[in-house]
Amino acid sequence: MSDLIFFDINGTIVKRDERTDLPYIEAANELLYTDNAMKDINNAARSDMDVFREILMNHTIEYTEALWTNFLEIYERKLEEYKSTDIWRINKDAKKFIEKLAKTDHKLALITGELEIGARFKLEKVGVWQHFPLGGFGEDNVSRFGIADVALQKAKKYYNESFDNIYVIGDTTLDIATARHIDAKIISIATGANTKKELEYYKPDYLITRFRKIKKLFL
Ligand SMILES: [Mg+2]
Repeated sequence: MSDLIFFDINGTIVKRDERTDLPYIEAANELLYTDNAMKDINNAARSDMDVFREILMNHTIEYTEALWTNFLEIYERKLEEYKSTDIWRINKDAKKFIEKLAKTDHKLALITGELEIGARFKLEKVGVWQHFPLGGFGEDNVSRFGIADVALQKAKKYYNESFDNIYVIGDTTLDIATARHIDAKIISIATGANTKKELEYYKPDYLITRFRKIKKLFL
């Protein structure tokens, strides 16, 4: 019995608070010589590329490849700078759960709006990056659905087998829609951007506040 399990990152594996995205915010500020690049922008569950385009639009700057490349360089430097701080912490019992899953036949992957480099820094910091051989990332598509499509294609190719079930685990209502978009079951975790009540409204297959609540499904 082998399931394919997609994890979201922010609010799911990594505890989400106002500091989680500091490297990204500071990189955008530095690029545009401002201190409020992210003003009025909600980045929850969105792709980093999509957010970047909105930032530029708000500053009436046209998107160019050169700007993007420049941003990526600054972003990587900021990620390095923050690596030794405590801005990225594990969410609840995520690490224990992922480590246990990694010892089973289940297959793990990511669906995240994060750029791959940001995902790597965050997940290396909390010690679980090595358990995710692939993922759909922010550079794969501007929309969450598009990212999920790419993630599923990569997973099928990489694991080269059929799965008994496909699951998505995520903290937002958009994760619920995304799971349904790829015909996966959704496990909503009320530890992030959306409240339990908000998640409940969309009737996820499972609604949890700790990973141990779904232990029996997989372990
Ligand atoms: Mg999230």
